[in-house]
Amino acid sequence: MDQVPKNRIVPCNNKSINPAGEYVVYWMVAHRRPSWNFSLQRAVEWAETLKKPLVIFEALRADYKWACDRFHRFVIEGMRDNWRRLEGSKALYYPYIELHVNAGKGLLSELARRACMVVTDNFPCFFLPRMLSAAARHVPVLVEKVDANGLLPMQEADQVFLRAFDFRRFLQKRIIPHLFTPPEPDPVAALSMQASPGMVSHLHERWAPAYSFLDDIVSCNLSRLPIDHSVPPAEAAGGFEQATATLRTFLSNSLSEYDALRNHPDDNATSGLSPYLHFGHISVHQIFQEVAQHEGWSPDRLAPQTAGKRAGWWGMSVGAEAFLDELITWRELGYNMCWRRQDYDAFESLPEWAKETLERHKFDTRTYLYSLAQLENAETHDELWNAAQNQLRREGKIHNYLRMLWGKNILAWTASPREALDVMIHLNNKYALDGRNPNSYTGIFWCLGRYDRPWGPERPVFGKVRYMSSRSAREKLRLSEFMEKYRS
Ligand SMILES: Cc1cc2nc3c(=O)[nH]c(=O)nc-3n(C[C@H](O)[C@H](O)[C@H](O)COP(=O)(O)OP(=O)(O)OC[C@H]3O[C@@H](n4cnc5c(N)ncnc54)[C@H](O)[C@@H]3O)c2cc1C
Repeated sequence: MDQVPKNRIVPCNNKSINPAGEYVVYWMVAHRRPSWNFSLQRAVEWAETLKKPLVIFEALRADYKWACDRFHRFVIEGMRDNWRRLEGSKALYYPYIELHVNAGKGLLSELARRACMVVTDNFPCFFLPRMLSAAARHVPVLVEKVDANGLLPMQEADQVFLRAFDFRRFLQKRIIPHLFTPPEPDPVAALSMQASPGMVSHLHERWAPAYSFLDDIVSCNLSRLPIDHSVPPAEAAGGFEQATATLRTFLSNSLSEYDALRNHPDDNATSGLSPYLHFGHISVHQIFQEVAQHEGWSPDRLAPQTAGKRAGWWGMSVGAEAFLDELITWRELGYNMCWRRQDYDAFESLPEWAKETLERHKFDTRTYLYSLAQLENAETHDELWNAAQNQLRREGKIHNYLRMLWGKNILAWTASPREALDVMIHLNNKYALDGRNPNSYTGIFWCLGRYDRPWGPERPVFGKVRYMSSRSAREKLRLSEFMEKYRS
């Protein structure tokens, strides 16, 4: 097994390893999968070095912002897949679901009291960085966080990229060695020490493992959990099994047409992978390997020039190049921002030109003004916007092209750009399965000018920020079936 690259690993405290500990803990918080996972691989590495068994601890809190039935169900389905996969392995899988706010408090510290050290995931967004820092202070042993987010380690770039073009050029120069050091598809297979349930059974009385929840997901009673029940589960099922099936369906049915059809809602030609990527149910490494295999690709097809061009560098089909540009350039651009800037979600983080133009136009008269409740309930004059919002509420997703339009219209219909930002963040993160992710902030802030340039003519409300209208979208896109389906 290859070693996890050093620039994917960050110590979270300066505590020592306890060689007398009984086991190594992998605290799975973001890369929620048993395969293609550098964090799990690092934990296995430590378990082998220290000649100890491995405990994989996956928990689900009840008190994070926007916690609801939709996200809980998706994560629990992922936990079920993980349990099934890990059940017969040498690792011990300990799933825990908080039934009351703060019920899980102290569990990690107790688990770590008998541990040699703890490995966890380095997800640079939402409440996770704060949670990890707090945990690392309380845990008595070394805590390491590992970055299994992207093809490029987040530490590889020491600057914040402000344009996709510059980041793409950087990727083209730096990504090649990383293509040859992917994580192991099955890291737990390298474990030699068998973990036993008895190692953690003293914790079960206070913090019962969630096996019964995972055993019967259909009837698992989410209504007794202290989370928002007004956002119901979506149709899409969570977990690495469904993630892999979704990827393979996309490769067989849509990849070849991705570039031509992806903007048309009726053609449904995108991958649908973003929720699985967000919850870590699938790895970008696995996706890349399967795309490359599907394309019969080998590295000798890479173009020698690294000019930052969107198409032609990989030497793959037009569809695959367009897909990889979204999956790698655009996705990892957001991770770069969140990793490097703590204010990634603040209005002040917009480029100067965007802040200046939006401020200058903030008192412009709005043709329509809607409250948060009207927007949330899709009660605007614009049928296309309402349909997109209905899709978000019902299914936890919005087609990408319409998502841009959705955000631009929120800018047009709220009292100020700062209010527009708050509304976009709230609605996106409350309903979208893939919300609360670096991509969420890429998309939302893009609507306000991030990663973009000034556009003319200068318009009311938008100023020099790029304008989009429902009228031109309706002229350009095939969306009659979409409109019919999400009319109400
Ligand atoms: C206002 C707004 C909010 C958004 N919020 C989110 C969000 O909360 N979570 C999220 O994952 N994406 C978000 N996006 C980006 C984009 O809409 C989704 O990533 C995409 O629609 C997901 O569908 P898919 O998996 O079928 O994408 P595909 O087209 O199949 O793309 C494959 C993958 O590439 C990445 N990707 C695709 N488009 C983008 C993009 N424009 N920016 C960054 N990464 C991209 C995603 O990880 C996606 O799963 C937002 C965009 C806008 C304009």
